[in-house]
Amino acid sequence: MSQAAARFNDPLIHHWMPFTANKQFQDAPRIIARAEGVHYWNTAGDKLLDSVSGLYTTPAGHGRREIREAVTRQLEELDYAPPFQFGVPGTFRLAHELAQMLPAGLNRVFFAGSGSEAVESALKVAIQYHRVRGQGQRQRFVGRARGYHGVNFAGWSVGGMVKNRDAFGLGLPGVSHMRHTHIESNRFVMGQGDHGGVDLADDLQRMVDLHGGDTIAACIVEPIAGSTGVLVPPKGYLERLRTICDQHGILLIFDEVICGFGRTGHPFAADAFGVTPDLMTMAKAITNGNIPMAAVAIRQDIQQAILDAAGPDAIEFFHGYTYSGHPVACAAALATLKIYRDDDLFARGAALVPKFLERIASLRDIPIVTDTRGYGLLGAVDLATDGAPGKRGFAVLRRAFESGLVLRVAADTVILSPMFITTDDQLDEMFTLLRKILAAV
Ligand code: PLP
Repeated sequence: MSQAAARFNDPLIHHWMPFTANKQFQDAPRIIARAEGVHYWNTAGDKLLDSVSGLYTTPAGHGRREIREAVTRQLEELDYAPPFQFGVPGTFRLAHELAQMLPAGLNRVFFAGSGSEAVESALKVAIQYHRVRGQGQRQRFVGRARGYHGVNFAGWSVGGMVKNRDAFGLGLPGVSHMRHTHIESNRFVMGQGDHGGVDLADDLQRMVDLHGGDTIAACIVEPIAGSTGVLVPPKGYLERLRTICDQHGILLIFDEVICGFGRTGHPFAADAFGVTPDLMTMAKAITNGNIPMAAVAIRQDIQQAILDAAGPDAIEFFHGYTYSGHPVACAAALATLKIYRDDDLFARGAALVPKFLERIASLRDIPIVTDTRGYGLLGAVDLATDGAPGKRGFAVLRRAFESGLVLRVAADTVILSPMFITTDDQLDEMFTLLRKILAAV
């Protein structure tokens, strides 16, 4: 066989992997073949401790029988039905259940298939809401540096992670970015920092002063910026954003794709910080990561304005996905929410928080560690750059995998986000492994 043919038959080359160094991966693959509880197994049969809950998706643990059975039952009963002009029972049931647990006022739910789709949907609702109220000039969005709102065009445009933007052109027009919230004076703080909250949020006021408040449709932020490395809002920050939005008729969107469903020790970050947005995006843990699904929660009067503006027989919102509210995803989500309730899982996660944050903070004495921070069951450890940015972070990821630990890195930041079912012993094991790895890179 020629070398070219051998390469063509290489089982790894045909899959173009997302957010991955493909060439590097093909030379040294890390393949996860099985999962149960807080563990994975690789193809060699080695056991790995999952310290990121999948990808912030799986707080109830891998391989939950209840979800598997609900999905199987749904597939046997109704595998699929078109979501446009037809309904399936599960979507209504799930939206109703979500409305009961969401912050007061957020009680209309639009379904999508991914966090990226949820963000696009939320931004479109915002534009249309203003338009039907005679404020079609509100076309601008305000996002934030280091924000992550998925990879679709509007999402990366309002997002602020440079690598996710710089290969793809101009993006959406009329987007401005506030500064991110990671500042020197809050370094090595667990929970919310004391410094900078109001001043950083006043960036939104500066956009208002520059562009006119009545040109801005919405301000979108992750309450805690997750993907970039767990940036916790300083005290007063989210409250100040809320006030400025209220003063100028700007919709506040919280992207809770990571923060939602107990990650902060509360059902949603909005509950944790006591600030309620006008729209909220959710995904990931909505199905414990078992089936792709996302949702946008919308203030009732926002939906009502859009419904009222259309004629009695007219489609009100020309938007939707083939897989909006897929019946199998709804079954997985309903089973997941039942686990959260029956196992009191958010409380179980919340009980882990003090020990988890203490363990994150304890890594401060390692010479290469330049910051530690966290909130709820989201923690981050910044490492000093070693030559090229990201080199040391990747070395940690690779060494961790070889040592039996799956973690997440963003450039040279290590991110941990354990499952709510993690035991004290497993948490100890996680940090013992991590300390050993950090001492060696
Ligand atoms: N928004 C936030 C805050 C996220 O963290 C993510 C993914 O991590 C997304 C949106 C995009 O979600 P998805 O990858 O499901 O499109």
